[in-house]
Amino acid sequence: MALVNNWLNRLQSVLFPQTCRLCLAPTGTQDFALCAACRDELPWLPRTCSGCALPLPEDSSATRCARCQQSPPYLDRCQALFSYRAPVDQWIQDAKFRQDLTATRLLGALLAQRVAAPESQPVKLLPVPLHRKRLRVRGYNQALEIARPLVRKGYVPAPTQCRKHRATAAQSDLPADRRRHNVRGAFSVTRPLSGERFLLVDDVLTTGATLNELARTLKRAGAQRVEAWVIARTIGRNFGDG
Ligand SMILES: [Zn+2]
Ligand SMILES: [Zn+2]
Repeated sequence: MALVNNWLNRLQSVLFPQTCRLCLAPTGTQDFALCAACRDELPWLPRTCSGCALPLPEDSSATRCARCQQSPPYLDRCQALFSYRAPVDQWIQDAKFRQDLTATRLLGALLAQRVAAPESQPVKLLPVPLHRKRLRVRGYNQALEIARPLVRKGYVPAPTQCRKHRATAAQSDLPADRRRHNVRGAFSVTRPLSGERFLLVDDVLTTGATLNELARTLKRAGAQRVEAWVIARTIGRNFGDG
C-alpha cells in the first residue's frame, strides 16, 4: 500500500507540480509550497534567548537575555522560527482570519522541518487553546492546525489536556503591561498531571504572556517541563497576539 501511495504521490507531483507561493517556481515536491530560494529568504531568526526568543547580541555567549536571567519565565525553553515580518506576518493573518488552509499547512510544514523529534520520554503536544466562543466564531484553532504535522514526528497530541475557561480580550488590543493581567488564570487543566513534559505551539509571540501563563498553569498542576515553539516573534513593535 505504501508503495502504491508513493507511486501515486510521484505521479501527482509530475502531473500537478506544486508551485512556490511567492514566486510560482516549481517546488519539486507535492507537500511544500515554497521553493528553496524563497525559503532561504524568509525572516529566519538568528540565535535567540532560550526564555523569550528575542535575538541575543552576536558577541554574547549567554543563552538568556538579561531580563530572563533576572526574572526567569515559567517556560523552560521558548523558540521561534521567524521575526514577525513579511511575508510570514501575512501568512499568519491569512491562517488566522481568512481560513486560508494553505497558509496554515505551509506554516506547519516549516515548523515541522525545524522541530526535532522528542528525545526519549514522551512529550505532549499542546496547541495554545482558544476559548470555546472564539473557536465557535473562527471554526478552527489555527495553533492546532499549525501543530498538526508534529504528531507525525512522535509528539503525543494532547489538545484537550488544558482549556481556556475564561474568554479574554484579544492580546493584540492591549498594551504590553496589561497582557499578563489579561490572561492570568484564564487556563485550567482538565485532569491532574504528574511529571509530564509538554511542547506548546502558537502562531505569534509578542510579550510571551499567554505562553507563560499556560506554562505556569501546567507546572502548578504537576508538569515537569514545558517548552514552546512559535512561528513568529514580534521584535521591537507592540502587536501580534501573544
Ligand atoms: Zn519561490
Ligand atoms: Zn529572554
